[in-house]
Amino acid sequence: MLSRAVVWNWNVMKLDLVDISVEPREYVVDDCSWISAEDDFTVKSFTSTVKVFRRDDSVIQVDGRLSSAIEAQCDRCGRLFTDEVQGSFIYKVIAGEDSSLSVQEREVRDEDIELYYLQGMTLDLAEMLREQLVLTMPEKRLCDQECKGLCVRCGAKLNTEKCGCELEQSDSPFAILKSLKK
Ligand SMILES: [Zn+2]
Ligand SMILES: [Zn+2]
Repeated sequence: MLSRAVVWNWNVMKLDLVDISVEPREYVVDDCSWISAEDDFTVKSFTSTVKVFRRDDSVIQVDGRLSSAIEAQCDRCGRLFTDEVQGSFIYKVIAGEDSSLSVQEREVRDEDIELYYLQGMTLDLAEMLREQLVLTMPEKRLCDQECKGLCVRCGAKLNTEKCGCELEQSDSPFAILKSLKK
């Protein structure tokens, strides 16, 4: 049987792994107050469902899904935009004294599964979700795949403005050719 818990208070996201058995426990997180101000993005909404269960004596598995609306700055034009990100993840948490090399060697081949070595028996789900949120975000943050960015010469916002720079590009092959002919 699956036991389900809705988590409203971020402080309870520290799980004591001693309590986790082979029966999955599901946590629903619907809160974004835990994102730190240092991040270079703002979380507008965050929802995650996380299933936690014991695989064996030393390994706890965490299966999760997350979806989030983030506000970030476009890498090309600098304007703020909102984007929806979604992802799923699997962690094998190796806790306590048993995090031996043999476990690492055996498990590391499976690339879809992240290994998480834990000192002690308290798992901070907030830390795990933050890591996953960052991994879920595209490497290049663009307000639009077609974003034209800023003109490298005059700084005009090319999505909404036109500048004359393109017309007089002196470093284009044709311009160089022209100057050679002179
Ligand atoms: Zn942009
Ligand atoms: Zn320009």
